[in-house]
Parts: sequence; C-alpha cells; structure tokens
Amino acid sequence: MAVAADVTEQVDARHELEKVTDTLKLSMEAANLGTWRMDKGSDNLIVSDIARKIHGIPLGTELSYKETLSVVVPEHRQRFAQAVETALANKGRFSEDYQVQPFDGSKRKWLNSTGKVELDANGEVTGVIGTILDITESKEDDLRKNDFIGMVSHELKTPLTSLSGYAQMLNLNAGRKSDDFVKDKSDRIRTQVRKMTTMINGFLNVSRLESGKIALQKRDFDLNDLIKEIVEETEMTSGSHDIIFEPTDTISLNADRDKIGTVLSNLFSNAVKYSPKGKRISIRAIVDNDDVTVSVHDEGMGIKAHDLEKLFDRYYRVDNKDTQHIAGFGIGLYLCAEIIERHEGKIWADSVPGNGSTFYFSLPLSVFR
Ligand code: ADP
Repeated sequence: MAVAADVTEQVDARHELEKVTDTLKLSMEAANLGTWRMDKGSDNLIVSDIARKIHGIPLGTELSYKETLSVVVPEHRQRFAQAVETALANKGRFSEDYQVQPFDGSKRKWLNSTGKVELDANGEVTGVIGTILDITESKEDDLRKNDFIGMVSHELKTPLTSLSGYAQMLNLNAGRKSDDFVKDKSDRIRTQVRKMTTMINGFLNVSRLESGKIALQKRDFDLNDLIKEIVEETEMTSGSHDIIFEPTDTISLNADRDKIGTVLSNLFSNAVKYSPKGKRISIRAIVDNDDVTVSVHDEGMGIKAHDLEKLFDRYYRVDNKDTQHIAGFGIGLYLCAEIIERHEGKIWADSVPGNGSTFYFSLPLSVFR
C-alpha cells in the first residue's frame, strides 16, 4: 500500500529559501561582511569564516565571547560590551565602531559591528547576532580629514584674534575722534569676525570630538547665570530679536560650563538665524524631579517631521527655498548632541512647520550632584 502526499509547496519553499540564502551569501562575500552569534546564557561565540579572518582567529579555534572581547583595544572594550549589554536589556539593536588588535598580531583594524537581539515566539531574548565590517580605510581617511580640519581651524584662529583686536582699537580711536563712519564700520568688522570665530570654533570642536580629544571639565555653576550670559552675547551679535528669559531659582549644576555654553549659544543663534527679525525667542529652564530641561522656542520657519529626525546628524542641513540663503555647515546641532550625550542627557526638537520650532535638552540631576 502506498500513500502519496502533495509536497509541492514545501519543495518550492525550500528552493526559494536556498535561492535567498545563496543571494545573501554572495552579497556578504562581496561586501566582506562577517557575522557572529551568541546564545543567551552561554559564552559560546559562533563566527563566520569572514569574521574569523578579520579578527585573525586561526581556523578550528573555538572562542568564547569574553575571550574575543579581549581583541577589542582597551580604550573601546567597555563601550562595545556596554552597547551589547544594553541591546540585550532593551531587546534592541546596536552599532559601534571600535578598534581591534587581531589575534594573529597583524596591524590594528577599525571595525563596525551592527547587530540585534534574537527573540523567541514569546518575545524572550534567545541570543545576539551581529555583523562585522572592516572599516579601517574609511576610518583612517576620516581621521586624516579631521586632523586637517583641526589644524586649519587652529591656524585660522590666530589671525582672526589679531583682526578682532585691530578692529577694536580702530573702534575706540574712532569713538575718541567722534568718527561715526569708521566707528560703524569697525563695529561691523567685529560682528563678522565674531561670526567667523564661532564657525571656526565649531569645526575645531568637531575635529577634536571625533578624534576623542574633547574631555569634559566639570565644575559647579548656576545654569540661570550661564543662560543670561549667553543671551547677552547673542543679543550683542544679532540684536534683531526679542529674547525672553525669566530665570527661576538657582539651578546649580556640576557640568562643563563652557561646553553647555556652546550648546546654548548654538541653539540661540539658530533661533535667530531661522526666524524673521523682530520675532520672539523664549527660553526656559525647568527642574523636574531628576532632570533639568532647557527649551528654546522660536517663531520661525519651523522644521518638517522628516527633517526633525536627521537634524542632529553631522553636516545635515535642511535644503529648501527658505534655508538656501542662510549660511551654515550643519555642525552646530551635531556638536550640541555630542556634548549633551557626553553629559548623559537628551536633546530633541519639535516643530510646527511655518509656526516655529522648540529645541530642548535635558540633563539628569545626578550628573550635577
Ligand atoms: P547650520 O545652522 O550651520 O546649518 P545646525 O547643525 O545648527 O547647522 O542646524 C542644522 C539644520 O537644522 C539647519 O541647516 C536648519 O535647516 C535646521 N535648524 C536648526 N535650528 C533651526 C530652527 N531654530 N528653526 C528651523 N530650522 C532649524
């Protein structure tokens, strides 16, 4: 007796799966993309042949996750391990650039590992899977570019300081002689030099940040005082908007005063840049339980939802007819985000296009105590 069953669907599905697997394998080989996987609760690491080659792991050698972490250079090890831990805890993803010293003793490499946790049918974490990409070449290009930008910005600062000094002398002299024409023009030179200095400092900060040379220098200060100071500076440079800030009680922080000042200065000057003259800019600093939140609201052109997501990316600028005549490099908000993140805070924005935007940053009070 024979029983026949129609398995066409299963066979078709298997063929389809084979085709997809082949395509995936081919793309991974072409991109030189390695993969790794670790099951939850076990320290066993399964690495693909490409990942093995990238790390200089001899064929046939079994490695644990902990052992493999030792190839990550000490400066980056904790950050990488933490990213994987956080993904495990939040059932999320991670993407980290880090340097390794391969097992076979070859030259250090820059790698990117992007991955996510795997969940079972009940949504419980079963393990982590990740990709490994050798990004040494592009990373070294980036670092060289950064060094260059840093060097050029640094060199440009010296003549600018002199220029500003001469303009100030000219201004004082013109004041003494009541020469209104020279006084007005030297004032303008100083404003332009100040703008240029801000731009150059922006580049210098980005290059320092990317090469890991920015360290926080925390001290105690009153956030209200700092906001007042930066409001005055912004008014001096622009003087075209109605800036409202009503300080509350002292908000004492322990943070890097200059860097938080840079964040405020960037947010205020953006509010000025991207809203019409004469409009109001409202600033508030509110303490709520464990956080202090600063908001900067303007009545300007606003930002569309799809741009809001990318605003804090490096070199990102909104490109439309309203913004195309406004100068900038798209590094101000990137810098703000990096500084706030290093203080373990958050930065975000919301906006009603055409009606204005509000930028917020919040810092956990534990950082300040
Ligand atoms: P930049 O102003 O030099 O272009 P930023 O990083 O400071 O660089 O800002 C990135 C982009 O975000 C800007 O190009 C602008 O389009 C948008 N943006 C920033 N602040 C505002 C604001 N207050 N209102 C509207 N758009 C803004």
